[in-house]
Amino acid sequence: MILNYSHSNIKFEKNTVIIAGAGPGSKKLVTLKLKLILKLADIIIYDALVNKNILKDCKEKALLIYAGKTKKNSCTQSEINHLMVKYANLGKRVLRLKGGDVSFFSRASQEVQFLKENKIKFKVFTAITSSQASVSETNRLFFNKKRTCNFFTGHKKINSSSKEVDYSNISKNKGKIFIYMGISQIEEVSRNLQKNQISPDEKVSIVKNASLKNQKIYITNLKECTSFIKKNKITSPAILIIR
Ligand code: SAH
Repeated sequence: MILNYSHSNIKFEKNTVIIAGAGPGSKKLVTLKLKLILKLADIIIYDALVNKNILKDCKEKALLIYAGKTKKNSCTQSEINHLMVKYANLGKRVLRLKGGDVSFFSRASQEVQFLKENKIKFKVFTAITSSQASVSETNRLFFNKKRTCNFFTGHKKINSSSKEVDYSNISKNKGKIFIYMGISQIEEVSRNLQKNQISPDEKVSIVKNASLKNQKIYITNLKECTSFIKKNKITSPAILIIR
């Protein structure tokens, strides 16, 4: 079957915000939906982890606004929220573009809430998350026998209302573990996993820049992963995969 995905069956109306995921980085992993709306957006407010090459496909007159939360050039969540509302109220088609998928450890829910409060029409477009792009034969691609999968973030402030990670449950359920934003918190994460009876010899795969040309996969184990990361100077963005 050939998917007939033309401009005619995707609507991006004026005064509307679309919050979309740009995928883990590779242009080939961008969704068809995003490809289409990139050509229609007037304003694109994009995060630090969005591959800039993806933005090359936007329309010529689109205004690109960098909204990364990096140390060098930091944009607050409140500024992002207000930018979306401001441009939507000016009659623009606003694309809020986030790294990976919008549902995985992004502040999309806060943005949705703000848009609702300000009576702005919006849509949310899903995408491929970085942990999906990180799974390969090196870190045991086939995990269908395990009935559980755990995703958590090492970053505590990602959602101020979130509870602490339930390490004992993760240990008991024996499912594969994917950790987002774990590099800077690795010492605490690895200590907690071991304290909860996950073997110090358990394999840890670290996938840096998943899906991109400079992707690197490192293999270590739980007891050595903190020193391994320091020794190899591994920095974010990376996904840790355990089991
Ligand atoms: N919404 C995003 C996650 C945002 S949190 C998603 O669905 O992927 C940011 C974290 O995502 C990073 O610290 C890192 O752990 C992970 N990440 C994002 N892009 C990545 C990539 N290309 N390779 C490895 N990890 C990535």
